[in-house]
Amino acid sequence: MAEPSSILIEDAIIVTMDPRRRVIEGGHILVEGGKISEIGGPGSKPRRKAEQRISAKGMTVIPGLIDTHVHLAQSLLRGCADDLSLVDWLKKRVWPIQGSFTREDGKVSAELSMLEMIKSGTTSFVAVDVVARYGFEGIANAVVEAGMRGALAKTVMDSPGYGRKGGIMPAGLVEKKEECVREAKSMIRKWNRVKGGRVRTWVAPRSLGGCTRELYEEVAELAREQGARVTMHLAEVREDVRYAKQNFGLTPFEFIEKVGLAGPRSLFAHMVWLSDSDVGMVGRTRSNVAHCPSSNLKLASGIPKVPEMLEAGANVGLGCDGAPCNNSYDMIREMKLAAVIQKARLLDPRTMPAPKVLEMATLRGARAMGMESEVGSIEAGKKADLVLIDLKKPHLVPYRDIVSNVVYSAMGSDVDTVIVDGKLLLRGGKALTLDEERIVGDAQKRQDELIARSGVRA
Ligand SMILES: [Zn+2]
Repeated sequence: MAEPSSILIEDAIIVTMDPRRRVIEGGHILVEGGKISEIGGPGSKPRRKAEQRISAKGMTVIPGLIDTHVHLAQSLLRGCADDLSLVDWLKKRVWPIQGSFTREDGKVSAELSMLEMIKSGTTSFVAVDVVARYGFEGIANAVVEAGMRGALAKTVMDSPGYGRKGGIMPAGLVEKKEECVREAKSMIRKWNRVKGGRVRTWVAPRSLGGCTRELYEEVAELAREQGARVTMHLAEVREDVRYAKQNFGLTPFEFIEKVGLAGPRSLFAHMVWLSDSDVGMVGRTRSNVAHCPSSNLKLASGIPKVPEMLEAGANVGLGCDGAPCNNSYDMIREMKLAAVIQKARLLDPRTMPAPKVLEMATLRGARAMGMESEVGSIEAGKKADLVLIDLKKPHLVPYRDIVSNVVYSAMGSDVDTVIVDGKLLLRGGKALTLDEERIVGDAQKRQDELIARSGVRA
């Protein structure tokens, strides 16, 4: 379909997330040239006519949600690895199946993940662990075609044994250091120079044990040289602390700080097992954290000290992680969990209020991606990444505070319209850039074939 160059959204309840956290009832948003050009209150008329008008009566408009930790290759593994301990989960299911991916599987899995994300209001994401066998290029092109904003973090590794002899990672996922570093560099050169591009290449060192100390130092150097950002899993399970203590005499975060990877250009997923001194250091270094509540609960990893990290000055965003550990890519559901689990952990219902959680899913996610001046809130001059949620549902009425209904009552399936860079990706709940029928129709057969090829009995 031909894309309108300007869109006027009318009669909306606009949750701006601007510095004053204004909520404008009955307002309009004018989108021109991919950006928000005007926001008006009730009764005010837009300065210009738009090519397309969208009535948002009975809907709320929120900034596009930002998923700071997602595995694009895992939606095809949905339902394959439930109710297992982390080691069995990884070694007996997730790794062998992922190690049997073809490039076509990599692309289709990315499409399925993006389809689910778009349909539940996510506009930007950080995809971790994009390994060579999934086909980085094919996935990057799929992101361009889907119309989302995606940071693809190329995996680098040089220690498939995770510190043990013999290796625990299946051959299909092992990459030679020279090859993965070369691919990371070449993808950084290719994608990060596209001005205004929606795809960016990051670097993802495998979790502690998957890389030697030398490689972590090399990644820190490479990130500095190329201006690339870094993301990795860290301190996810208690075993990570034991490993770091045994091998480096440090906590996982102390080690990461030592090799030069702590800081505002790095994003660490999970961070469940931190000492109080680690929490202070995460804050002082202004590091970014991807909090993945569903994953931490389902894999029984533990509950991270999110309010404490925020208090210390760290930037914490939210992530859905992957289908084997969540099992969905719905950021709206993730927001509710992020709010309620901390209340139970701290026995304090006042902690993690709804506005703070929405901030994590929008503004803080934008900061974790280094895009806080471009996305994350509805303000004139920012990119038009917008999500319309239909409130005409029994579980969404009545409301007094719309942010509360979005965080505590809404579901991803309430999303009606999604706009990224001023382009419509979803309208009336229908995907416009991805072929939903093909992708959904293909998923079962593809999973069956993958499992048969991997030899896993799931
Ligand atoms: Zn993960």
